Amino acid sequence: MKYSEIDSKLRKVYSRIRTLDDYHWDLAGDRIIGRHKKSNLKLRIRVANSRKEAEKLSELKEGEGVDIVVVPDKRTFYIHNGTFIMTSKFLKGTLVDINDHIIWRGFKVVEGDGTLIQEDFYEYLGGRFIDHLKNNMTIGQDFVFWQFYKCEACGKYVDIDSVRSHLRDHGTKIEDMDEMMYEVFEINLIEGKIYDKYGREVSEEKLSEEAKEFIRETIENFKS
Ligand SMILES: [Zn+2]
Repeated sequence: MKYSEIDSKLRKVYSRIRTLDDYHWDLAGDRIIGRHKKSNLKLRIRVANSRKEAEKLSELKEGEGVDIVVVPDKRTFYIHNGTFIMTSKFLKGTLVDINDHIIWRGFKVVEGDGTLIQEDFYEYLGGRFIDHLKNNMTIGQDFVFWQFYKCEACGKYVDIDSVRSHLRDHGTKIEDMDEMMYEVFEINLIEGKIYDKYGREVSEEKLSEEAKEFIRETIENFKS
């Protein structure tokens, strides 16, 4: 298949997003297949001639990932059957927002061929993304994501930068660990509250003293 043989509407959509190098893009006939490079999140972008046609396409699910249908209607953006239906103008911004909701959540050292390889794990916080869209919330302004480690010794969540000293106090050396997974929480700067990836509030008693202090400082910094 030659590039010139791709539907012109699809080429137009593709030309809007191909500069986003957090993603890898393939053109597959009637759709653009995307893959978020770090997390491997799959995306499928199709074009429709109307909202009705887009809604019909939304019934077709091809597995995990994000489905987007671009329509010619102006100023359109909504979610139908879990599919994003939108004007092409909103596509790039949406993909940037999705990238902002893909967060590193841990690592594991595995044995390779003569070397040790660090595998990294990422999480797409799709539920939070939908909530942030609905509430018109911007990352870095209304909320930030942060990694917290659940301490096995005391059961409290410790902010990622305090983990070394926190574990040391329990007699554990961080350098002895070859695998660490974190929970990604949202620090809501407007409400001053903490939410988990499902949007459930994380109560103060679940947080370590360092984490509480870190959150307090973070919220203060954004206020000023
Ligand atoms: Zn602890």
